[in-house]
Amino acid sequence: MVNDTGPLILVVEDDAKLSESLVLGLEEAGYRSRHAATFREAADVLENSPPSLVLLDLGLPDGDGADLLKRIRLRDAGLPVIITTARSGLADRVGGLEGGADDYLVKPFAFEELLARIRIQLRHSERGALQWKVGDLKIDLPTRTASRGGEVVDLTPREFDLLAYLASLRGEVASRQMIQHEVWNVRSSMASMDNVLDVHVSRLRQKLDLPGLVPLLHTVRGVGLVLKEQRP
Ligand code: CA
Repeated sequence: MVNDTGPLILVVEDDAKLSESLVLGLEEAGYRSRHAATFREAADVLENSPPSLVLLDLGLPDGDGADLLKRIRLRDAGLPVIITTARSGLADRVGGLEGGADDYLVKPFAFEELLARIRIQLRHSERGALQWKVGDLKIDLPTRTASRGGEVVDLTPREFDLLAYLASLRGEVASRQMIQHEVWNVRSSMASMDNVLDVHVSRLRQKLDLPGLVPLLHTVRGVGLVLKEQRP
């Protein structure tokens, strides 16, 4: 099944074998991905389907990844970029980070390490925002409070994490797997997790979508959850 939820990761890599295994691994981990084998393709994807994070190889057949990074930074200071390259010299690393990369991974690297660094970067970029708004719902991250139309919504810490995570996706559907991973830090699927999630979702919905208000928390059957203004 094609995963059409979750953060989109742009994999800029001209090595066919490596890019194939990266794309497969990312999909297994619940991410969507786009692959670009050249500078030009990558620039195209950045233009037409802005990703949540970029894995950037420096040595590309039609250009230098460092130039692509400059181009990204001109337009989007907050988009996380992880350089993945065989260039391990100190000057290259420093150059990459000074050029605006958020992290630098030298090939060959362990896929689990890449995943860990992707998670860190995605969390940082979520943290970059201090407040989320969805309809009349305001979520304030520094104070960990939520309100609808000025009325405080009294949430447990876990309910708040769930709500903030859904809000960070800006109307994109979160799969159950992504939620378990991001909110509960649970990697494998366990039947008991399903129940826990259902209970939290139902409590959150009761507190959030009071009668008379436009419902914000929606179940997408067989897929997951989405937070957006949508009348039934
Ligand atoms: Ca290369």
